[in-house]
Amino acid sequence: MRKHIFNAGPCKLSDPLLKNTAEAILDLNGIGQSILEVSHRGKDFQAVMDETVELMKEVLSIPEGYSVLFLGGGASLQFAMIPYNFLKSKAFYVNTGTWSKKAIKEAKLFGEVVEVSSEDKNHTYYPKGFNIPDDVDYVHITTNNTIRGTEIFEDIDVKAPLIADMSSDFISRPVDVSKYAMIYGGSQKNLGPAGVTFVIIRNDMLEKVVADRKIPSMLQYGIHVENGSMFNTPPVVNIFAVRETLKWVKSMGGVVAMEKLAKERAELLYNAIDESNMFESPVQKEDRSRMNIVFVMKEQYKEKEADFVKFAGERNCVGIKGHRSVGGFRASTYNASTIEDVQALVQAMKDFETQNA
Ligand SMILES: *Cc1c(COP(=O)(O)O)cnc(C)c1O
Repeated sequence: MRKHIFNAGPCKLSDPLLKNTAEAILDLNGIGQSILEVSHRGKDFQAVMDETVELMKEVLSIPEGYSVLFLGGGASLQFAMIPYNFLKSKAFYVNTGTWSKKAIKEAKLFGEVVEVSSEDKNHTYYPKGFNIPDDVDYVHITTNNTIRGTEIFEDIDVKAPLIADMSSDFISRPVDVSKYAMIYGGSQKNLGPAGVTFVIIRNDMLEKVVADRKIPSMLQYGIHVENGSMFNTPPVVNIFAVRETLKWVKSMGGVVAMEKLAKERAELLYNAIDESNMFESPVQKEDRSRMNIVFVMKEQYKEKEADFVKFAGERNCVGIKGHRSVGGFRASTYNASTIEDVQALVQAMKDFETQNA
């Protein structure tokens, strides 16, 4: 039996992805070679790459004038690549927790960072309505805070180029891409297995690269755009798997359908948390993430947290232990999670409460 997987990343992936990738590892399109054995420059893989890029554009309705890249290094390398390429003197960062902080740390190597932060309330809300100085090179946001469980659901208007880390809520809702200069993330949360990074970059950004800075080739966006993500050997299997996710999302009704399902899953679990006398959510209601549902036990039951992780595990609900920096629980309900997965967890919560409260 397949378990109810709530891991934060790597995470649950769709059944067609697992099946089709397994088949391609044995034999790609019946050509007598595994996807692991073909040249990345041969026509069989080039077709996979081209289709993946086209599907990205289609599924997210990416307008003309943007390039789609698949790179190595994870979202974490983007934290450094972004300021390396674009930070001349000053950038604006919205600090919503661990991942934004890591991005800010790298940016400070290259220039001044002006910051708005939700740290005053332990990152339990998403900052809004902030004043951005006129002279910043770009604005950086993290749309979903994977660890604390906050998310912003609107595509904000800012004057400077807007750059978003969408690692953990990518293709979970329709996005107005035209408001962003760049969208990026690690694939391992909604898009596929770990090992490939997606970058959607507006082509005019390539003209905004800091002119008098020497940047190594592998860290230049322009080089990767020119080479169609093949400046070096790309992670071919991961890109194949990303294509399978995009095909699956499209067949399910696209990002509109993904958003509807995400709302249903999140509502089911948050309602169970809010109605419970044992569990509670530390996150401000309107900013609660649909992708990473963070909850804890009320003070008087705190010592039972480890017991509940075990209890849920016996019911095949795995990956619900909270991030080591926060404690409690986190159920990650990405695109491939089903209502049945969430129902199983809700039932485990109810039964545990009946037995222990
Ligand atoms: C997981 C995560 C990252 C880090 O991604 P890597 O691919 O491991 O570098 C960055 N940002 C967010 C929002 C994440 O959830």
